[in-house]
Amino acid sequence: MNPYKNAVFQLNQIAELLDLNKEIIEQLKLPETLHKFDIKLKLDNGKIKVFRAFRSQHNSARGPYKGGIRFHPQVNESEVKALSMWMTWKCAIAGIPYGGAKGGIICDPKKLSPGELERLSRAYVRKLSPFIGPWTDIPAPDVNTNSQIMAWMADEYIKRQNAKRKMRRWGNLGANPLASFTGKPLVLGGSQGREEATGLGGVYILASLAQKLKIRKEKLKIAVQGFGNVGYHFARLAQKAGFKIVSLSDSRGGIIGKQKPENGRGRYLEVERVMRWKKKTGSVVGFPGTKTITNDQLLKTDCYVLVPAALENVITKNNAARIKAKVVLEMANGPTTPEADEVLHQRKILVIPDVLANCGGVTVSYFEWVQNLQGYYWEKAEVLAKLKKIMVRAFLDFWQNYQTLKVTPRMAAYALALERVVGAMKIRGS
Ligand code: GLU
Repeated sequence: MNPYKNAVFQLNQIAELLDLNKEIIEQLKLPETLHKFDIKLKLDNGKIKVFRAFRSQHNSARGPYKGGIRFHPQVNESEVKALSMWMTWKCAIAGIPYGGAKGGIICDPKKLSPGELERLSRAYVRKLSPFIGPWTDIPAPDVNTNSQIMAWMADEYIKRQNAKRKMRRWGNLGANPLASFTGKPLVLGGSQGREEATGLGGVYILASLAQKLKIRKEKLKIAVQGFGNVGYHFARLAQKAGFKIVSLSDSRGGIIGKQKPENGRGRYLEVERVMRWKKKTGSVVGFPGTKTITNDQLLKTDCYVLVPAALENVITKNNAARIKAKVVLEMANGPTTPEADEVLHQRKILVIPDVLANCGGVTVSYFEWVQNLQGYYWEKAEVLAKLKKIMVRAFLDFWQNYQTLKVTPRMAAYALALERVVGAMKIRGS
C-alpha cells in the first residue's frame, strides 16, 4: 500500500516492456528535488502546532514542474513522491509543456479555522518561494485545497518576490507573478472552466471510449466513489452528456437508487439534487429514493463504469475479484494497486488510467498559465473547446498504443508518456 513503491513498480514494468535506457530509468525513479520542512503555526488559541510539509519536484525535462498541493492527515513522503511522478506522466500524455511535481501538508483542514488555514498556506509558500515560480514550479489545488487557498498562496508569493526586489505591486519579474499558481479564483487571474476541468476531461475520455467500444451512452451506467470537486463535476457533467449515474458516495457512505416498482430497475440519480442534499445534510447519505451502502459496496455495484474519484489504493487485491464493472475510469490519482491491476486485467476489465482520465485538470491549469503570461483571457467556450481537443487527442494517441502494443491500458498510456519524457531527456543529453 505504499504509493511510491507502486509508482516505481509501474515504471519498471514499462521500462522492461520498451527496453528503455537503464540510466534514465534510474534517474526517473527519484524526484530531482524533494523539499521537506516543518511549519510552526500559531493556532487561534495561542498554542503553537507543528505541521510537516513536502514538495516533490520529480522531473523537469519537458518544462517547469507542475502539480497540486494537498492538505490531508494521510499525506506522507511516499505519497507525494509517487504523485509527483504521476504528474510527469500526466503532463506528457496531455502533451502540455511541463514536468511533474506534487506537494502536501500533513493536516486535517476540517479542524482548522479559516484564519489558521490562511496562515498555514502562506507559511508553506514562504518556505518554498525560492523554489517555485512561473518558470520553475507552478502549484495548483489538489485534495482539500481550492481557489481561495491558491489566492492566498499566489498573494504570498508576489509579496515575497516584491520584498526581495524592493518593488511594489506587480513588480518587474519578467513574467506575470500570478502565473506562479493555477486554479486561482476568476477575480484573481483564474481561468474559466478550471473548476470543472478534471471532471469534464474525464467525460470527454469516457465519450471517446464509448465511441470506440460502440456502446450508446445511456447504456453506460456509472458508479462514482467520491463527491469532492472531481467526483461531483464528473458525475454532473456525465449525466448532462447522457450517461446514467446509478450510485454515488462520499467519505461518510454511499447511495444507490431504489428499484422502481414497475420494472424492478434501479432509479438513476440526479446529481445536482444530490449535491443540494449534501450541502444541507453534510453527506449524500439519506438522499430520498435511495438505499444506503458502504464505500466498499459501491465498488462492487452492478454498473458498467466504476469511477474511483477520491484517494489512492481503494481498488486492491481484496476487492478486485468482486468488481462487476466492465470499465474502471480512474479519476482519482493512483486508486488501483498493481496487484488489483493484474486481477482486473485477467478479468478483462478495462482500466482507463489516472494519468489519462484525469489530465483535464492540469490541462486547464496550463491554459490558465498561458492566459496569465499573455495577459489575455479567453471565454469559457474557447477554454472548453481547447480542452476537448487535447483530451480527444490524448485518448486517440493512447488508444493507438493500446491497439498496437497489446499491453494493459496503463502500460499503453505509460508508453506514450515515457516516449515523450525519455525523448526530451535524451535529446537534452541527460
Ligand atoms: N491536482 C491536479 C492533478 O492531480 C491538478 C494539478 C495541476 O493543475 O497542476 O492533476
